This record gives sequence, structure tokens and C-alpha cells, in this order.
Amino acid sequence: MAIQCPRCNRQYDITLFEFGRKVVCECGEVISAEGVFPPGLSGRRDPIRRQENEEAKRVARQHMEVLRRAADRVCTLILLSDYPEIDVEIEKAKVRELAEELFPNRMELYEMVYESRFRRLWEQFRSEPDEPHYETLWRPEK
Ligand SMILES: [Zn+2]
Repeated sequence: MAIQCPRCNRQYDITLFEFGRKVVCECGEVISAEGVFPPGLSGRRDPIRRQENEEAKRVARQHMEVLRRAADRVCTLILLSDYPEIDVEIEKAKVRELAEELFPNRMELYEMVYESRFRRLWEQFRSEPDEPHYETLWRPEK
């Protein structure tokens, strides 16, 4: 899976963007996985499909915004240190469901962009050394 530079269309492997990292493209554009989420809509050049493509992009942007807000909310809850873990888990499951509904083919990227962020925040602000490994608490069944 690759992420495409929105300016020059050079492709970068998705793993470069793990943990919210940004990549500076050779053309100078700063690319983040979140910024081009979901990828793969910009490649079509067929003029007949262009309008349809524009519409799809517009809808994708709206969906992305909805998902981003939902994910931001989870981040905020993690930072509220007295917000119960179980409720954070419930909110996280809801965001995941939302992502599955909006971007069913992009869950790999969702996990990379958002779930890795939740995990990082949790480790940074909530984890205590004696607790069981966090991943075992939340990782959904495949
Ligand atoms: Zn570029």
C-alpha cells in the first residue's frame, strides 16, 4: 500500500507514515498519512470520470473530517485522567466502527494513523508498569 504525494504523485510506502510521522517529498510537499486519508482517490485522470471523482473526493473529505473529530474526542478522553478506561475502550470501539463504515477498505491505514495514536497517548499518559500489556486489553478479534 502506498501513499501518493498530492502535488507530484510520487508514491511512498505506507510504513513510512507509522505513528503519525510525516515525510518531506522530493518536491518539497510535506505529506502525512492523515492528510491524504484515504489515499488512492487522486490517481484518476479520465475526464469523463473526473466529476464523479471530484464528488467522491468531496465525500471522502467529509467522512475524513467526521472520523478525525471522533478520533480527536477519544484522544481528549485519554487525556482526562479520571475518565474510566472502560469508557475510553467503548468510545474507541465506536470510532473503529465508524471507520469501518466510512472506509471499509482502509482499516490498515486507520489502525496506523489513529489506533497507533491512541496507543501512544495511552502509554504516555495512562500506563502503569504493573498493568497487563495494554494491547491485550483492546485489540479487537480478527
Ligand atoms: Zn511530491
